Amino acid sequence: MNTTWRLHGRPVIGAALYTPETGPRSWAIGRSYVLALASAGASPWPIPLLADDAQALRAIYDHLDGLLLTGGDDIDPAHYGEQLHPLCGRIDAARDRVELTLTRWALQDRKPILAICRGHQVVNVAAGGTLYQDLAALHPRPIKHDYFDPPGAYARDFLAHGVRIAPSRLGDILGAHDIRVNSLHHQGIKTLAPSLVPSAWADDGLVEGLEAKDDQFLLSVQWHPEELLDADPRMGGLFAALVAAAREFGEARVTAPLNLE
Ligand code: MN
Repeated sequence: MNTTWRLHGRPVIGAALYTPETGPRSWAIGRSYVLALASAGASPWPIPLLADDAQALRAIYDHLDGLLLTGGDDIDPAHYGEQLHPLCGRIDAARDRVELTLTRWALQDRKPILAICRGHQVVNVAAGGTLYQDLAALHPRPIKHDYFDPPGAYARDFLAHGVRIAPSRLGDILGAHDIRVNSLHHQGIKTLAPSLVPSAWADDGLVEGLEAKDDQFLLSVQWHPEELLDADPRMGGLFAALVAAAREFGEARVTAPLNLE
C-alpha cells in the first residue's frame, strides 16, 4: 500500500459528496465540513458517489484513516424496512448506498467515524436501527427540531434546544453534561441499533448523540458542530478528536506490516 501521503502527518478523512437538487450532472460537498476537517489537521478527501462500482469505492475506502458522515437529505426508509411516509423529504439514492456501505465497512474495521446530522442517522440505519420519518408528525411528544423552517428565519448556529450528555467520549471531549445546540433536522432516531449506545438526548428524549458499545472511535451527533466552531469553540474538539483517532488508526496500519495487503 502506498503510504506517502502520511508523510505530511495529516490523516486522510473521507466524506461522501451529494447530488445537488439541480440534478445529477455534478456532485457537491458542504464547504464547512471540508474547512473544519482541514483546520483540525486532516487531509479532507471527498468521495464520489460510485454506488454501482464497489471495487472503486473499496479502493478509495482503503486509503482512508477516518470517515466523516455529513448532513443532507433524508435516507430512503426502505433501508430500515419502512414504507415511504408522505412527510419524508428528498432522497439521494446513490448517496444512501455509498454512505451505508462505507459506514458498514468502517464499523467492521473499527475505522474512526464522526457522524453529523444525516450522518448520525446513517450510522444508526447502517447498524440496524430505524428513524422517525418526520419528528413533528410521528414523535410522541416532539419539540421543534426543524430550525430551517421557515427558510431564512434562523441562523445555522442558532442554539435551538438543550442537550443532556451522558458520561461518555462525547462528554469528555466537550467537558460538559448540559449544552445548547443548533437543530437543523426533521427526522431522528426511533429505535437505536443494538450495537450503539446513546450519549446525548434532547429535551424531548430524542437521541442526539451515540457511540459504539465497545471502544471503537465513533462519535455521532444530531446537531451541526461544523456550524458552531465560533459560537461554541468546544465543538472544534469533535473534529480534533476524529483527526487524532484517525492518525492513530493510520499509524497502526503503517507500522503493522501484517495488516498490509
Ligand atoms: Mn435537534
